[in-house]
Amino acid sequence: MIYFSPIVLFLILISPAIGSFIALFADRYLRGEDIITKRSACRSCAAPLPMTALIPLISYLWQRGQCRNCGTAIPILLPLSEVSALGLTILAVMSTDTNAELILTCFVLWCLLALFICDAQWFRLPDVLTFLLLILALSLALISPNLHIFDALIGAIAGSLSFWLIRTGYYILRKREGLGLGDVKLMAGIGATVGWENIAFVTLLAALAGLIWMILQNKQQTAALQGKAALPFGCFLCFAAVIVWMFP
Ligand SMILES: [Zn+2]
Repeated sequence: MIYFSPIVLFLILISPAIGSFIALFADRYLRGEDIITKRSACRSCAAPLPMTALIPLISYLWQRGQCRNCGTAIPILLPLSEVSALGLTILAVMSTDTNAELILTCFVLWCLLALFICDAQWFRLPDVLTFLLLILALSLALISPNLHIFDALIGAIAGSLSFWLIRTGYYILRKREGLGLGDVKLMAGIGATVGWENIAFVTLLAALAGLIWMILQNKQQTAALQGKAALPFGCFLCFAAVIVWMFP
């Protein structure tokens, strides 16, 4: 149900900046750089970015996606993250009824977006984010009328356990890693978000989305069918979790 409060307006207004921070986090955290105090600069020419280059969405369009100093293209993940954070916040507003539920839903969705961007950029799912997702999802289940805390807890255990079994089974059969440990940890948070009953749907949808992605990336097709191509499966799991959770 759609409702309106100052919190709704505030969350919608800050969401592009949240998306901007998520892209910054993904870019710096896995390089081991300071996230808060380091001044923003172009990755190519190291020119410091003025305040006018840091306005979410507007700066990217205004600069036509390029650094003003050297003309290097700004990574597309930045505007994508800003637009996605805004879209996810609107989705949260449309699917919640109270301020507390809305705020926690936004944080869960933003956390899933951060995990998506990290996996897309680095093929990594940072422990700090998978742990945060689990805590946020369980907190949401405590106040949500849609999912009981016990279903969320069983979802967390079932999600990670099933993926750990798939990972171990694949390793025994193929003698190489087919599924990252990050995906196992991610599934604890996703299981707690969607509940144990929806884990199979999320997995199936993620696998289908991954397969379509591989087919669209024509050149990887042969390697993919041979099981040799690297796929950021966490991205597809995050995407599928949002779809299954928000459009039950
Ligand atoms: Zn530059």
